[in-house]
Amino acid sequence: MKKIDLMILAEHMYTMEGEGVGYLANSGVAINGGKIIAVAPSEQLKKEYEAEKLITVGDKVLMPGFIDGHLHSGHGVLRGVAQDINNWMMHGMAPFEAQRSYEAKNGGSRLAIAEAIMNGTTTIGDDGTEMEGACQFIKDCGVRGNISIRIREALQRVYKPGELYEYDENYGQKTLCECLNLFDQFNDVDNGRIKIRFGPQGPDFVSEATLMKVKKMAKERKSKIHMHLSQGSRETKQMMMRYGKKGIPWLAEKDYFDCDFIGIHLTDATPEEVKLFSKTGAKMILCSSSIAIIDGVVPPAKQFQDAGGICGLGSDQASGNNCHNMINEMKMTAILNKVHYENPEVMPAWKVVRMATIENAQALGIDHITGSIKEGKDADLILVDLKQASLTPLYTKPIRNFIPNLVYSARGNEVDTIIVKGRILVENKTAITFNMEDILREAQAFADEIGERATPQFIDINGKNVQYMKEQKL
Ligand SMILES: [Zn+2]
Repeated sequence: MKKIDLMILAEHMYTMEGEGVGYLANSGVAINGGKIIAVAPSEQLKKEYEAEKLITVGDKVLMPGFIDGHLHSGHGVLRGVAQDINNWMMHGMAPFEAQRSYEAKNGGSRLAIAEAIMNGTTTIGDDGTEMEGACQFIKDCGVRGNISIRIREALQRVYKPGELYEYDENYGQKTLCECLNLFDQFNDVDNGRIKIRFGPQGPDFVSEATLMKVKKMAKERKSKIHMHLSQGSRETKQMMMRYGKKGIPWLAEKDYFDCDFIGIHLTDATPEEVKLFSKTGAKMILCSSSIAIIDGVVPPAKQFQDAGGICGLGSDQASGNNCHNMINEMKMTAILNKVHYENPEVMPAWKVVRMATIENAQALGIDHITGSIKEGKDADLILVDLKQASLTPLYTKPIRNFIPNLVYSARGNEVDTIIVKGRILVENKTAITFNMEDILREAQAFADEIGERATPQFIDINGKNVQYMKEQKL
């Protein structure tokens, strides 16, 4: 009998191997040194391995942890301050973001990341500036990180409508240096658990020269570029004013896209641009609920997939989503596309579960490490509690209803156990590697300060939510 660290035997397992969700009955995984060393029928595993910890489950489903392909954890402390309005960034976010200190941003990151983990996310695709605190928390709490560090040259100030962003080379250099520093500090820590990516904010925020420099540096470091692309009319206006071309055709002309490029949103891309982008081998991350709430738009994920592209899901940010919960993202992606195409067969439940696991790993370039239950991959796994009203009753014939119920009925609190690289971060719905109560308490204290300081500007802007507050509707 070979001695190993951990063995999980499950009546129901979904591996995400093959073309669907890879269902296996009465099977399990043997885990040693953080890696899956065998996936086999439970009876066989019991004969071959003796595990230091054995988990046997009949009332829980074993599956890969979810991957959140794109989020801004630092906005966690601004949850729910900017919905139901036009001009989300200037009229919604701006007064609150202006009052968010570096410490408050880190508190927001801890909140967003902890929330994501509790909802079954095992890979955090964080994106932003001043990311050292977020990187440190990801390192300490044991979750996987695929973190893009924001590079930006457009000065941070309020621009008038129709005004071209002012580039500042020194500012661009400063953000690039931060990216390189964090790359040296965190990339591949814990045997590749954290990956640092290059994150130019968008083609409108960074000059051509810096974009080219970033591509070269990312290639030299075998990293990826993770960039907002065609993310709305603001970007389109800036690109048309500066270059007379939209982001996708402009970058395609410069051979900027390849399999190491990950484009976020594509909200404003035409069908031709989506095709052009997918042909280059570049990948797409779709943030369904965020873009629905902020813009009222369904991004062109289906068109991208129909053209052969690989697409993953992201939760974006709590100031416009308002949650870091991949079950919510799967549900919204399936339902919004059905409504958009007036066809219930578009985006079935099994497809969106793949988009939150294996296809997200493929989109981010980490599918050799995570995203499915397969021998040789890291053990990034979750157990989902079936003894919940939302997942009861369970059918196994003539149809298996777990996957549709996970997508359309579950809320996130059904996730019971979270394992990353073989280490248990959450067990029996209790966090082990972080203190949820402390995180909630400190986030509230930061929000109390931000709310106080943001009040004059919030009232001065007089957006829709100010009216709702005045009228006692909100
Ligand atoms: Zn974003």
